[in-house]
Parts: sequence; C-alpha cells; structure tokens
Amino acid sequence: MEQPPVTLKRVPVLDLSHEIMELKPQLLRSIEDVLDKGAFIMGENVQEFEREAAEHLGVQHAIALNSGTDALVLALLTAGVGPGDEVVTTPFTFFATAEAISQVGAVPVFADVDPRTFNLDVNRIEEVITPRTKAIIPVHLFGQVVDMDTILELADRYGLYVVEDTAQAFGAEYKGRKAGTIGDFGCFSFFPSKNLGAYGDGGMITTNNTVFAERVSMLRAHGSKKKYMNELVGYNSRLDEIQAAILRVKLPYIEEWNEARRRAADVYRELLDKTPGILLPAEEFYGRHVYHQFTIRVLDGRRDEVQTKLAAKGISSVVYYPIPVHQLPVYHHLRISQPAAELLAGEVLSLPIGPKIEASVQQFVAESVIEALR
Ligand SMILES: *Cc1c(COP(=O)(O)O)cnc(C)c1O
Repeated sequence: MEQPPVTLKRVPVLDLSHEIMELKPQLLRSIEDVLDKGAFIMGENVQEFEREAAEHLGVQHAIALNSGTDALVLALLTAGVGPGDEVVTTPFTFFATAEAISQVGAVPVFADVDPRTFNLDVNRIEEVITPRTKAIIPVHLFGQVVDMDTILELADRYGLYVVEDTAQAFGAEYKGRKAGTIGDFGCFSFFPSKNLGAYGDGGMITTNNTVFAERVSMLRAHGSKKKYMNELVGYNSRLDEIQAAILRVKLPYIEEWNEARRRAADVYRELLDKTPGILLPAEEFYGRHVYHQFTIRVLDGRRDEVQTKLAAKGISSVVYYPIPVHQLPVYHHLRISQPAAELLAGEVLSLPIGPKIEASVQQFVAESVIEALR
C-alpha cells in the first residue's frame, strides 16, 4: 500500500520555517534598517515595541528585557523580594520560575497543581502561606490562564505581590483581560519557540504601576535613568534593537497566530475525542487558551512507549516537564511531595502544534497516537 506523503516528512514539535519564509522580506528590511541606522542598543525599535506591546495588551507600561528569566528576577527585585522571604509558585513549570526566586535570595514554596489544567490549584495556596510569604507567581502554563480572581483575593488578604509568569501565554485572556496585565507584574519571554518569539533571547515586564515601571527600567540598565548616573546596583538586561525590530514585524500577527493555534487544538480534539488511554487538555477553564502547547496525558504508564512509537514515525513530541521542579537536584533538599505534579510528570506529552501546522499533519499525528495505544 502506498503511504501518504506526509509520513515521509519529519514532523517537528514546532515548525517556524513557514513563518520565516512568509515574513522574510519584512524581516530583512527591518534588520537592514537597524544596520543602516547603526543604533543597536535602546534605539527606536525597543521604544516603539514597548509602546506597541503595551497598547496591544492593554497595560500602561511594557519594559523590554533580554529574557523571560530576567523579567521574573527584576519583577521580584522591584517588589522588594529578597533573603528571608518566601514566594509561592507551582512545581509544574519550567525551572526558570523557581530559579528567579532563588536568584533573588528568597525561598520557593510550592503549592500543588490541578491535574486538569496543569496550573496551580488555587485551593492549595493558602495552606502554604506563612508570615514570610511575600509574593505569588502563578504560571499560565501551556497558554492556559490561572484562576486569577482567587489569586488576587489571596494576595489582597495576605498583602502579597502577584507576578504572572506569562512566558507561555502571550495573548491569553482571563475575563476579557490579557494575561500578564492582571497582577502587579506580567513577565513575558520572547524565546524563539514562545507564541510571540524573537530569533534570539528576549523578555518583557508589563505593569500598571508607574513606580514599578521606572524601577524595572533602571534595573535593566545598570541602575540608571540617565547614562552614567547609576543610582542602584542593577543589571545589563536590555532587549537588543535587532530583536525588537523582529518582534515589531511579528506582533501584528500574534492574534491571527493564536487563533490558528486554537483551531489546531480543535482539530486535535476532534481527531482524538474519546480515545481510550489518554486525556485531552482542559479547554477554556478560566479564559482564552492560546495553546502554547497541546499537552495530552497518557494513562496507564504508557507515555514513554507512545513517545517512542511516534518517534519511530518521525513525529517529535516533548515531555514538558519530566521532573517537577521540587524534585530537581537543586531543590532535592526540600524533601516535599506534590502528588499531582509528580503524576503529571509521568503522563504528559506535548504534541506538535503551531499556527502553521497543517490538518493533514495533525491527522497523521492523531492516527499515530491512536495506533500507538492499540
Ligand atoms: C520560557 C519560560 C521562562 C523563561 O524565559 P526565557 O526567555 O527563556 O528566559 C520562564 N517561565 C516559563 C514558564 C517559561 O516557559
């Protein structure tokens, strides 16, 4: 029997080639413009990108930085979090979330997740709050927003800062508000694979607090408002002009791309509906999901087997995250258990998804998942 041609192709988890091909003329023009102007740091592209991103998200201030990790670090520093403080977050996230907490000298305190949403179980937060707790970092994992009303209510009651880790959720919404504009700080990453990605490292903090915005701007530039007038000990954490120029080309497409991701998720839902042995990701739990990942749970201890069978057909899939943060070697000494996060680490499998993924490719992936489980 003749194989459909799609089986001959390798299926990557994210394919940026279509986007790059489509935008190449615009990208090259923008990059060339930066080269011609010769301003590579803190030029007009950074300034304009900050203005455009803030307007797009509906927030007063956006400060462009060199990574999402630095965004978390600078947000915590701006909130005054430091040694002796505790920050509550999820154990089921990329290490950078907790790393930022440790980086500023505070202690990460984990509250377990809701296995349906992969996000913080907001009912488990209060039990880990102590007099030392200074902030909460909800992570909008895989593009799904956290139940922010409950987070805000707890923050209000205990006097805590809310730092939204929005690295995976540019454009996601909670009750009509964009993720990253609800807490005191929104922390974004423009790592190339994120929904809005640069072609290098990049990040951003959003806030509606003018004092915070000014402090973040200073911290990213060696603690200075004016060059050579250093008022604080800060960092070198600026977004460069070329990445800002690239992000300005891409920002106008983000809505369209997020919609395409949502349609791709619907295609998977239809193809994988009621497949025994897997659970599909929760849909629109608290707001608009932007499917940074389409992550299924493979039950009965068969996840690795399914991943291996997909790989044999050229289909890449990823386990985000194989080890929950509290069990990583660096936090081993905490000796805590977070059963839901540990369960998910053994079951999750993220399938190929992106704004440009073709339905025929999704069909091949879904059929291969079903076949692997048979
Ligand atoms: C990507 C990511 C980060 C870190 O962003 P970088 O730009 O790579 O430093 C932080 N938190 C989460 C949840 C992420 O996915």
